[in-house]
Amino acid sequence: MTERRPAPSFLPATAVLEMTYKCNHECIFCSCPWFAPQGEFTVEREMSVSEWKHVISKLCSMGCVNLAFTGGEPLLKKGIEEIIEFAAGQKVELIETEDGKLVSRIIAPKLFLLSNGKIMDNNILGLCRKHNINLSLSLPGLETYPDHTCGGGYADDILAWFRLAKEAGVTTTAGITITKKNQHEIFETVSAALFAGADTILLNRFMPGGRGLFHEKELSLQPEAIPDLLSSVDEILQNSGRTGSVGTELPYCLLQGRTFKNLTVGARCSAALDFFVVGPSGYIRVCNHSTKRLEHVSEIEKLKMNPYWRRFTFKDYLPKQCGNCRDSIICDGGCREAAHISGGSIDSPDPLLKSMEWQ
Ligand code: SF4
Ligand code: SF4
Repeated sequence: MTERRPAPSFLPATAVLEMTYKCNHECIFCSCPWFAPQGEFTVEREMSVSEWKHVISKLCSMGCVNLAFTGGEPLLKKGIEEIIEFAAGQKVELIETEDGKLVSRIIAPKLFLLSNGKIMDNNILGLCRKHNINLSLSLPGLETYPDHTCGGGYADDILAWFRLAKEAGVTTTAGITITKKNQHEIFETVSAALFAGADTILLNRFMPGGRGLFHEKELSLQPEAIPDLLSSVDEILQNSGRTGSVGTELPYCLLQGRTFKNLTVGARCSAALDFFVVGPSGYIRVCNHSTKRLEHVSEIEKLKMNPYWRRFTFKDYLPKQCGNCRDSIICDGGCREAAHISGGSIDSPDPLLKSMEWQ
């Protein structure tokens, strides 16, 4: 068995790079903190292409082996292709254990591009192919796609890109946010994505945050509905021989002992441990759902001692309601940033559990 770990550094292996605040959709479920009501999240000057290159080079030298380009809509960033080309030319040290020995390899970082697909074109597809970039496209429903994106287009446009990507040999992920409005067609949405050629599925549950706060009532899922929704996705994945995962961690007790074969469902928060985020202006956050700006990337070493960062790295955030739970060894009580947004602190209960009886 091969075990992977990044080169020694206090930084997680994956850096999520928010290229721009701008977006060409107005998705009603969008959790980007700068789209939240009252504009409490400060928006500052976006980093230039050369500043991003400097950041990417620094992160690679500190052991970030995976770089995910997102936004906002990353394809709206002027110079995005130049930034991605630069990233693809970097070298990172990947240390793996093989047959009980540590083996170090110098390789190019693994790149991911997460887009809403609205201005996808063949140049971007060619770039993905050239550098083996995983392309993730957002597909929040089929019939409900225009509703969810506020008239941003049609699901067929995105499905067409999955087909073209398949033909071009580009690996793809369908990013599907499940909401109360599209849960009735989740089976069809996942099936359509896989049929069109998506290699894998990344499910996210709707969580309060960003613009989604304006639409919380109409989009929030009933916790009781979630296990069945996940089981139906797992069934499709099994039937099609594909795998998927849930990107927004769930409270373990909410799953009611349900197990899944092809769908990975996490209950442990990976923020600041497996990944972290660099925002458009260079401020670091523990997760893309987080509203809390930490250090600027130009002073990244300070992050080690940042109290908020340390609460995540030491997992010092279990809600008091979970204190006696025997499963807290495998569960962090649901999403800690959704809890923060809806309850005021990172050890508040996950919003899904507010309406449920605690164990
Ligand atoms: S730790 Fe909390 S959220 Fe997780 S299973 Fe236990 S009670 Fe549920
Ligand atoms: S804060 Fe943690 S649990 Fe919530 S989405 Fe981010 S990584 Fe997942």
